This record gives sequence, structure tokens and C-alpha cells, in this order.
Amino acid sequence: MLPRPFNYHRPRTLDEAVSFMTCHADDVSPYAGGTELLLAMKMHFADYQNFVDLKRIPELRAIARHDDMVSLGALATHADIAVNAVIRDTLPALARLCASIANVRVRASGTIGGNLCFAEPRADPPILLAALDAQLYLKSARGERRVAASQFITGALETIRAMDEILLRIEIPLAAGGISYERVVHGHRTVAGAAVVLANDPSTSARVWVGCVAGCPASLPSAERYIAANPDVPDNALKQAIAADIGELDVIDDEDASADYRRHLALTVAHRAIAAALGRKVSV
Ligand SMILES: Cc1cc2nc3c(=O)[nH]c(=O)nc-3n(C[C@H](O)[C@H](O)[C@H](O)COP(=O)(O)OP(=O)(O)OC[C@H]3O[C@@H](n4cnc5c(N)ncnc54)[C@H](O)[C@@H]3O)c2cc1C
Repeated sequence: MLPRPFNYHRPRTLDEAVSFMTCHADDVSPYAGGTELLLAMKMHFADYQNFVDLKRIPELRAIARHDDMVSLGALATHADIAVNAVIRDTLPALARLCASIANVRVRASGTIGGNLCFAEPRADPPILLAALDAQLYLKSARGERRVAASQFITGALETIRAMDEILLRIEIPLAAGGISYERVVHGHRTVAGAAVVLANDPSTSARVWVGCVAGCPASLPSAERYIAANPDVPDNALKQAIAADIGELDVIDDEDASADYRRHLALTVAHRAIAAALGRKVSV
């Protein structure tokens, strides 16, 4: 199918983009790499009258470090992030993840902002960004607001972004302890992913998130409490805590993996990610 006719705008400044989004606030969509959007348009699943192409706004693509925080422009592509020296140095788990997403074509045009805003349930970066306690900055004519990555996606293909808001950047605080991301891929997409971010002393903070398992990423609070109480917690007790958390999720059951198999994969990747962040050997 071909997309329906639409108006296409390519602003050169952020102010211009915000003003256009405001004028058409009831029927407008930002356009970044187009890797999800083009397909959705062809399937008439994204039937907007107005598209605002953000690719000509250079500030939206910047990646920089500011003291103990890293800022990723929403238009940074997976490839930009994978090869960026600051990211490879400070957040190697994120660089490795972005280097492994999809294929070279998708990595070259697909952006981190498009990945978050599309909220495809099988996306990887939202899991790691939630565990990293990243903060998203959104802009509209009403001003700028900050939303935690862990709160941004509310369900499959659903976020709290208003139609006229542009995601500007993602700010990631640099954790002092272990960071890991583990996933299992089937075909082109992830069927279970897990991210762990520890403070230098894991008893003060341990964040464990899984995704690609339910409609949106979810934290594993029992596992977090176990690690915080005892970073040397025996494997079996840790697995029981993870399994209890996963048991609470409304797990996806589809042609890639049954719900039971996905639960098993989620347990496996979460356990591996925790072991990797704690610097332990995995016994599966
Ligand atoms: C074959 C294939 C394999 C893939 N494999 C993986 C994988 O293994 N792991 C994974 O995580 N992902 C995977 N993806 C998804 C890929 O990461 C996303 O397609 C890509 O990141 C989307 O970015 P984009 O710039 O192309 O977004 P677009 O398609 O341009 O936009 C997607 C959505 O986000 C909105 N949007 C985009 N930018 C902004 C912004 N700055 N502000 C507000 N809204 C915005 C758009 O309006 C649209 O609704 C795969 C995709 C394909 C096609």
C-alpha cells in the first residue's frame, strides 16, 4: 500500500519545528529516520496530515558529556551512539547495544528518539535507559518538561508524549558501579532483554529492568531488594526473586515466543545481566 497524501515540512530550526507542531497540534507527527514511521504510513497505521522532518536541526543530534551526565540528542542514530567516543568510554553497554541493533541500514537512519517515541514493545534502548534512570526532555509551545525514561512508555506503542511535543534529548546520569544489558533475539527483534545498573556499593542502589516481555519495560523490585540486601545472594534465591517479579507481568504471547517461553527467557537474561553487573560467573 502507498501512504495517503500528506504535508511535509522540513524546518531548519527548533523554533520553526515547535511553531509548526503547534499550528497543527491536532494532526501532526515528527519524522526522524522513518524506519518505523514509513512502514506505519504505508500500512495506514500512521495516517497524519502533517509531518515535520527533524533531521535538518543539528542541535537535536548532539552527543556530549557534562560532568557526571551524558546527553544524547533525540536525533542521534544508533550508529552515532555506537561509535561515539564519549559513549564508548562512559557507557560501553549502551554503545554495544546500539552497535547490535537491527542492521547497518536501520542503525544508520534509526534514531534513539524515534525508538523511544514509537514505543514498540520489542525495543531494547528503553529498557537500558530506564535502568540508567535517564531523563527525557520534551518541548512544545507550552515549554519544556522532563520525564523519567522509566515513566515515558505506558504500553505497547503508547507514551505520555503529547502530539505537539518534540523529544529533544535524553540525559543519562553516570553510574559508578556495574552496568549490563543482555538480550535474546529471534529473527530481527528481541524476545527478552534485561538491564542492570548498580551503584558503586550495590547495597545503596540496584536497578533491574526487563523488556520485550510485556507491553512496556518493567522493573523487578524483588530482585532489586535482594541485591541491595546482599550482593552475594545465592543464585537460587536470586532466581526466585526474579521469577516472582516476572510472574506479575502480563507477558506477550506471540509467534516469536509463547508467554511461558518468554518468562523463561526473561528469567535467564535478567539473571545473566545481574551476574554480569556484579562481575560474577553465571550458572544457568
Ligand atoms: C528490520 C528492523 C530491525 C529492528 N531491530 C531492532 C532491535 O533489535 N532493537 C531495537 O530496539 N529496535 C529495533 N528496530 C527498531 C529501530 O530501532 C527503530 O526503527 C528506530 O530507532 C526508530 O527511529 P526512527 O528515527 O527511524 O523513527 P521514525 O520512524 O522516524 O519515528 C518513529 C516514531 O517516533 C516519533 N518520533 C521520532 N523522533 C521523534 C522526536 N524527536 N520527538 C517526538 N517524536 C519523535 C515519530 O513521530 C514516530 O511516531 C528495528 C527496526 C527494523 C526496521
